[in-house]
Amino acid sequence: MQVTFLGTGTSRGIPTVGCQCKVCTSTNPKNKRLRSSLLIESDVNVVIDTSVDFRTQMLQHNVTKLDAVVYTHCHMDHILGLDDVYPFNMWAGKTTRAYASPTTLKEIQITFRHLFQGELYPGVPELEFEPIEGDFQIGDLEFEPLEVLHGKMPILGFRVGRFAYITDVSHIPEKALRQLEGVEYLALGGLRYLSHPKHFTLSEAAEMAQQLQARETYLVHMNHDVDHEEGNTSMPESVSLAYDGLILEIA
Ligand SMILES: [Zn+2]
Ligand SMILES: [Zn+2]
Ligand SMILES: [Zn+2]
Repeated sequence: MQVTFLGTGTSRGIPTVGCQCKVCTSTNPKNKRLRSSLLIESDVNVVIDTSVDFRTQMLQHNVTKLDAVVYTHCHMDHILGLDDVYPFNMWAGKTTRAYASPTTLKEIQITFRHLFQGELYPGVPELEFEPIEGDFQIGDLEFEPLEVLHGKMPILGFRVGRFAYITDVSHIPEKALRQLEGVEYLALGGLRYLSHPKHFTLSEAAEMAQQLQARETYLVHMNHDVDHEEGNTSMPESVSLAYDGLILEIA
């Protein structure tokens, strides 16, 4: 399977509107971060989170087919692109499957109320939601949900074979640590250098990566305090900062 990092930024994206800081004004393309989202391609195309930048991400990577969407949690940076799933419904002539925890699904039903009640307005996305209750299969991909904490809020990461994706996270409970045993490629959230109640810092994420002993770990969901090159130099050998457009081929 192939994994593409569609976005590696925190909720405001980098550059952040109105900001003149060193990272937001940097000309290094690796310092431009859309909101965090991931594309997994094998027999099927699956996107994890429809970020605010979903449309841009689909166009940038020339994605012409989408089989399913999987949600980590209900925060706006991770769901607001949902409206742009519609063209995939239009071209394929069918609904798109979507997977979310019962809690996330409830929040999506509130945020996108118009998709769940009454007669659908023509041109709205058509998603067929399935609540995540345990492992689930999309085409040839086996998804194993990993319950982690984002502050006090339980959210989901996912293990897919040798790969795992955990975005907004400040604590990984015992059960998820066990589920992550033997993972080889890991994408893990690390927000900034200063401590934060709902996210790992870069060094907390790097420490966790070393504990998990993945062969390669890539940090995601970074804010504008983090310069790509500078951040990378402070990382242990098996850990690096992901960037938009990074592709992993996982046999
Ligand atoms: Zn987020
Ligand atoms: Zn900035
Ligand atoms: Zn969040």
